[in-house]
Amino acid sequence: MTEIKQNGLVIGERELGDNDKLLTILTERFGKLCVIGKGVKSVRNRHMATTQLFSYASFGLRKRGNFYYITDSDLIENYYDIRNDIQKLALASYICDVVCDVTAEDKEDDEILRLTLNTLFAIAKNIKPMKIVKACFELRIASECGFMPDLAACSKCGETAPKACILDILDGVIVCDKCRKEAFSANVENEFFPNGYQKPIVTLSISSLMAMRYVISSEQERFLSFNLGEDEWDDFCEACEKYLLNQLERGFYSLDFYKTLL
Ligand SMILES: [Zn+2]
Repeated sequence: MTEIKQNGLVIGERELGDNDKLLTILTERFGKLCVIGKGVKSVRNRHMATTQLFSYASFGLRKRGNFYYITDSDLIENYYDIRNDIQKLALASYICDVVCDVTAEDKEDDEILRLTLNTLFAIAKNIKPMKIVKACFELRIASECGFMPDLAACSKCGETAPKACILDILDGVIVCDKCRKEAFSANVENEFFPNGYQKPIVTLSISSLMAMRYVISSEQERFLSFNLGEDEWDDFCEACEKYLLNQLERGFYSLDFYKTLL
């Protein structure tokens, strides 16, 4: 019987019978763990507060079979401001669903845990507009999972500061406007329209490109500390969302629900 002490964030919860919960907890050293919370649905249970979705706590956990059971817990942060706002709640649920999808058991994921905590904090405290926080999280987590796009220079000519460019969503590279126009005029059946099928692309201005470069290369704690003009937000947000979903090759119900609230 293994017993561990870990700080962890509840990123998923499912009801188990009348009193119990099956929790997914992302921990500092052991990655994502399946935890059974015995009796935690009762308000009288001492682990009730630490076993809510988005609760970050210090947990004592004992392993039995495939599951861990809670022996001890102390709340560190519960992101109370998220629970009072349906839009924040929906976005935070999507964030946790993405994290659940990209993490694994017994794999140390401290970077992803810290990114998730920073993102939830930003949503709770309105550090930036929600759509910007969402986009930065999407781009940064894709990069943390090994899908960092190559945004340094045009993949055709090597231009590092193109006035405008496109992000090739599938390959994660940029192509400057000049190279793209040349490819278009040379042949209609070019790589962006092979057999008439358009490759997913998003057009980016130099400022959106710089913002994306910042998000993938900055210190984790400062990944939201940049400015981008409001008229650029749509392209930036579209690029980040499409890029992540394409790399993960899936969609999320929680994302669809979040969008119904906009
Ligand atoms: Zn080029």
